[in-house]
Amino acid sequence: MEYQDIVRYDRQHVWHPCSQEKDYELQPPIPVERGEGVYLIDKAGRRYIDGVSSWWVNLFGHNHPRLNRALKDQVDRISHHIFAGFTHEPAVELARRLSELTPGNLSRVFFADNGSAAVEVALKMSFQYWQQSGRPEKIRFVSLSDAYHGETVGALSVGGCDLYREVYRPMLLETFQARGPDCYRCPYGLHRDSCDAPCFETLEQLVRERRDQIAAVIIEPLIQCAAGMRIYPPIYLRKLRALCDDCQVHYIADEIAVGFGRTGTLFANEQAGVAPDLLCLSKGITGGYLPLSVTLAGEEIYQAFYDDYQSLKAFLHSHSYTGNPLACALAVEVLNIFKDEKILEQLPARMALLDRYAARFEALSQVGEFRRCGLVAAVEMVADRSRRTPYPWQQRRGYQVYKKALQRGALLRPLGNVVYFMPPLTIPDTALEELLETALQAVKEVTAC
Ligand SMILES: *Cc1c(COP(=O)(O)O)cnc(C)c1O
Repeated sequence: MEYQDIVRYDRQHVWHPCSQEKDYELQPPIPVERGEGVYLIDKAGRRYIDGVSSWWVNLFGHNHPRLNRALKDQVDRISHHIFAGFTHEPAVELARRLSELTPGNLSRVFFADNGSAAVEVALKMSFQYWQQSGRPEKIRFVSLSDAYHGETVGALSVGGCDLYREVYRPMLLETFQARGPDCYRCPYGLHRDSCDAPCFETLEQLVRERRDQIAAVIIEPLIQCAAGMRIYPPIYLRKLRALCDDCQVHYIADEIAVGFGRTGTLFANEQAGVAPDLLCLSKGITGGYLPLSVTLAGEEIYQAFYDDYQSLKAFLHSHSYTGNPLACALAVEVLNIFKDEKILEQLPARMALLDRYAARFEALSQVGEFRRCGLVAAVEMVADRSRRTPYPWQQRRGYQVYKKALQRGALLRPLGNVVYFMPPLTIPDTALEELLETALQAVKEVTAC
């Protein structure tokens, strides 16, 4: 098909995610033909730096020789088979290594095929654990304002972004929500690098008061990504771990976005020196090649389900493509690449490059903050810097930056007034600089009027 035919048929038949379809009248979808490292290449040969890792999934670039090889090798054996009653080497190898690499003693790995499903699994596991452990009244979940845990009904219920959930509110589960950390607009006037997270108090109070009803607290460690890459300090997680221990509440860590090196360590919880009771992973797990997710649990949770069949304590959750061998083979190769190519060891140099741009972004009069954690960075544009007043959302400043950057060959994505960078971990310095320069220019133009 020619470029224009693809666009035409797309407009006739396709319904895209996270989009007002009408926007495509002015900004038609771009047909991608192939990928090359950090670049997406369209049907007309134009190249776009993938500054958002294709929605936070890609780790080592597109069309990666080692990942291609791992996938092809597995295709020649088997692409998929039932995972109840059967097992396979890539799944076993992946489970074994994830148990070792993740914080704490998360020795049990449950497979699903996307992040939302991993969250549903964690919620159901926690819920059922308490049902089977003599605490059937613990049925509620606590999450933070502006949290994002996926789009399925359970995951959306613990979400806090009104944009994604408001219209569905009547169909969602009843949950408790605490005000989350908001370091750029800190109500205490503190800084995230030096505070001891007094804002934790609101969550603490809620959990202490309702502990008898609460099964688990679910949060996104270190960065509330969909909220606009809101970065907060590790001490918040240490306080949460202590609180959950004290109140007999599970700590569910959703590292779907921040896992696999994004924050500078393999897992974000490492920076707090704590381990969750349940850990959700997805996105980067296959290097951005195929859908896969896992929920890890410790032995104590696992044992609450382990009994004779007649006890009816089994965890009966399942998905057709559970434990897909192609995805698992890729995930094992991703772990090999982390090790062989010393990926984490190379991040500090790229993080320093991001830091060098902080001052240049913040020199713009309408940039409120340039924040960074690991290789994730965000620029927050504001109408009034001294008051930290947001631009009215209807002006879609972030979306304008997105469109301008696209014209110059860079793929950024807006989150309201925030434009962020979450490039593949292996992005070459030259490409990262090009990405930052393009963004700087686009932000400058969009905030000039
Ligand atoms: C993307 C994301 C999810 C949902 O994952 P999907 O694969 O899109 O369903 C859940 N939690 C966080 C933190 C995410 O970033």
